[in-house]
Amino acid sequence: MPVALPKVSLGAFPTPLVCLERLSGRLGGPRIYMKRDDLTGLACGGNKTRKLEYLVGDALQQGADTLVTAGAGQSNHCRQTAAAAARFGMECHLLLGGSRPSFVNGNLLLDHLLGARIHWAGDHRKGEDLPELVEQLRQAGRKPYVIPYGGSNLLGAMGFVDAWQELEAQIRDTACNPSHVVFASSSGGTHAGLMAGAARWRRSCDLIGIRIDKEPAGDGDLSDHVLSLASRAAAHLGLGAGFTKGDVVLHPDFTGGGYGVVGEVERGAIRLVAQTEGIMLDPVYTGRAMGGLIAMIRDKRFDGRDQVLFWHTGGTPALFDYAASLAT
Ligand SMILES: *Cc1c(COP(=O)(O)O)cnc(C)c1O
Repeated sequence: MPVALPKVSLGAFPTPLVCLERLSGRLGGPRIYMKRDDLTGLACGGNKTRKLEYLVGDALQQGADTLVTAGAGQSNHCRQTAAAAARFGMECHLLLGGSRPSFVNGNLLLDHLLGARIHWAGDHRKGEDLPELVEQLRQAGRKPYVIPYGGSNLLGAMGFVDAWQELEAQIRDTACNPSHVVFASSSGGTHAGLMAGAARWRRSCDLIGIRIDKEPAGDGDLSDHVLSLASRAAAHLGLGAGFTKGDVVLHPDFTGGGYGVVGEVERGAIRLVAQTEGIMLDPVYTGRAMGGLIAMIRDKRFDGRDQVLFWHTGGTPALFDYAASLAT
């Protein structure tokens, strides 16, 4: 039996699993389901809630009183971390890329309302300056706990092993039986956890990550990072067989203008899903990933018996900060 990890409750689970009949009909492709992790319930929801249940559990067990993490100015991860800190009476320090905008909106507005202390890091949006900040906090008598970029370490990935278990129960109770699962992949924890979860419950379906960032993830390529995290999660679960590089599927064709740049692909996907299903996607991650799925359907990548599950990882508060590129 794997060692039980400390975990707190932050979200409302299970999140809904819905069938997108009108979208499927409009695209004339396979049946499309959506896992609504935009509805995890923590300060506007998102996939980081699942990771934070383990990360905050670990922070509390270590006696920390302050959460520290990093991300882009519109980071959903940072916003959910700020909310988790508030829920447990902890201080939250966010190291954000860029500089303070003249108009505070979207996730950044929520960071402020949630009481997070914000530090601007210029072009260092992936936590390059975290060691200095942590040292300052220690000097000031705080007990900081550092959550890595995107919450993507073994603990974060375990949140998505749990998500897969949750999905298994929904597959048992509904007509959903996915042949493919499609999702946005950026810091790798979601992808790795889903891989380990699918292996743990012996479900054979294709997991297709849509790469969001053009540049490599921090210390190396994203696929290496996903492989290493998924392998560690599998080992933690006591699964005999590990993974190989070929098990990590990352679709590279949709990085467009780079991280956070909205183009025709994202705009079209956001409008189509909003206007067929009344569901909002986000401009940075799910708009891009759904744009990728739509392109794959148009390229006849699926056949009539396939069922595609799109994992909605959240991010909708960022829509408001992107008004200028979306309201055209
Ligand atoms: C962080 C994030 C992702 C990517 O998840 P990773 O685990 O970092 O790969 C996808 N969608 C949204 C909305 C996110 O905030």
